[in-house]
Amino acid sequence: MLVNTSAVLNYNRCRRFAALNDPYTALYLNGDFSEENSLFRDIFLSHIYHPNYDIRKNVTLTYEFEHEVTLTENYDFIVNDQKIYCLLPYTATDFLNLKFKDGQHKYQVFTKGSDGVYSIRTSSLTNKNFQEKIEKLYSHFESIGRVVFSYALKNYILKKVYPQKKYQLYFIILNSDYKYDGISYTDKLYHTFDFSGLKDLNELVEIALFRMINHIELNDFTPCKLVKKACGKDKSSECKFVNFCYSHLPENISILDYFNSHYGFNEITDEGTIHHDAYDLLNEGFVSMQDLPIFWLKDQNHLMQRYCVDNQTIYFHREKLSRGLSTLKYPFYYLDFEALPMPIPKFKGESPYTQSVFQYSIHIEETENDLESIEKNHHSFIANPNKDDREDLLKKMIQILNRTDSSIIVYNKTFEKTRLEELKEIFPTYKKDLDKIINRLFDLLDVVKMNKGFYADLCFKSEDLDSFNLYHPDLGGSYSLKKVIKIFKKDAYDDLFIKDGIKAFKAYQKIPDSSPIEAENIRNNLFLYCRQDTYSMYQIIQGLKHLIGPEFTIKNS
Ligand code: SF4
Repeated sequence: MLVNTSAVLNYNRCRRFAALNDPYTALYLNGDFSEENSLFRDIFLSHIYHPNYDIRKNVTLTYEFEHEVTLTENYDFIVNDQKIYCLLPYTATDFLNLKFKDGQHKYQVFTKGSDGVYSIRTSSLTNKNFQEKIEKLYSHFESIGRVVFSYALKNYILKKVYPQKKYQLYFIILNSDYKYDGISYTDKLYHTFDFSGLKDLNELVEIALFRMINHIELNDFTPCKLVKKACGKDKSSECKFVNFCYSHLPENISILDYFNSHYGFNEITDEGTIHHDAYDLLNEGFVSMQDLPIFWLKDQNHLMQRYCVDNQTIYFHREKLSRGLSTLKYPFYYLDFEALPMPIPKFKGESPYTQSVFQYSIHIEETENDLESIEKNHHSFIANPNKDDREDLLKKMIQILNRTDSSIIVYNKTFEKTRLEELKEIFPTYKKDLDKIINRLFDLLDVVKMNKGFYADLCFKSEDLDSFNLYHPDLGGSYSLKKVIKIFKKDAYDDLFIKDGIKAFKAYQKIPDSSPIEAENIRNNLFLYCRQDTYSMYQIIQGLKHLIGPEFTIKNS
């Protein structure tokens, strides 16, 4: 069986994974980074290239371990048979932010040497806080731990295949502070890391390999304990069998759907308070929200959820909804962006993983309730993926939005606001116009869910400032746009080919390699998807108004 880092880490999640997994698909590729990776490789190669160097590219090594397990890993560049470089599609932020305390001061765990390479600070090995901080580097459940494990396995294979040679292995990791000048990439795009100073890396690998083999030999299909970190449910590291192993949880009303369920629940007894972890409860058979004794729920928002689930009803705070909506000024502009997070920045002013805006959708509600159809008063822009269209996008958007000083409605303001702030920095000519837009942004989430500051300004009493404004059993503890629209328009996205932002940017990425007909089809699907996002906001406001009562109108000023 051929295994790489990703496979070993997956087989180590739990005993059951091996029994569920098809051994012929044991070898997992590390993400689908191939295209960007080839650009990253080209950039890096141009920086290390020297006519006298012997550079071998994309080398795969394998090593027969035990029990018919063959280890395999790829190495991007081997230079002069000495230095080996592997390029990673991650940013170095988590490594650089790893700090420990020594007396009054905080220090980075990784320090940059005179050769420009980051390595572990060996002078602090005896510091207790340092020891605690570096534990993360050895954990399979931490993203930085998985990077270190990958380094350890690559190094392990190297040493087994070439026991006589002294290779030095480096990981090349993206620098999130780098800003592309739009002309050429410098070596500031990445940081070089050497993890070889970490102790016991070979043991780390062998323990994981024997654990994997043990799980494979056990071949035990029966359910095992669900462990939050191992399963990684709803995280980027989610196990591919989550849907199967969690299939006994009722949709939207499981105990994990209580707000902040990760904090657990407290049972008050005569002997004191007993804290119950949500996953412990799950493993003990507390599956549905209704399985929890109601007297364990102390938080008013938990009680509200429970009330809605027990009674299959919607809860709403009429006064908060109506006064929140009454702050809006007509005409309303409903705005939504789609953006592409590129590991290697594509355009001037962008950094690794900057969300590069490529599309907007705007609906205008000129007078109250006048958007009776999705086609009405709609404006859309989809950038040409083969050129930097951001300025054109900005100009057209400003022209539409800055006709008046009225409300611009977005959902979850941070995303749109951050994009506008970034664009302001990249295109300072439009600073005034963009500031005008930013200052008018209205977050519909503040009304649907809650925003303490917003409602404090509206003079709500303190007991109202912690309670959410709306709940329905179908929300499953989430206020995402796609969940909330379902309360008012269940089938809003049903007929669409693209149904979420990730699918949208993945589709957009395919345009340059598509035939003209396919590209047109993708553009049309993007148009329909983003259009529905802005229309969903209108539909949600219509739904809220309906809940408040037929006499309610948003007063215009
Ligand atoms: S979902 Fe959790 S329990 Fe199921 S195989 Fe994956 S890690 Fe194991």
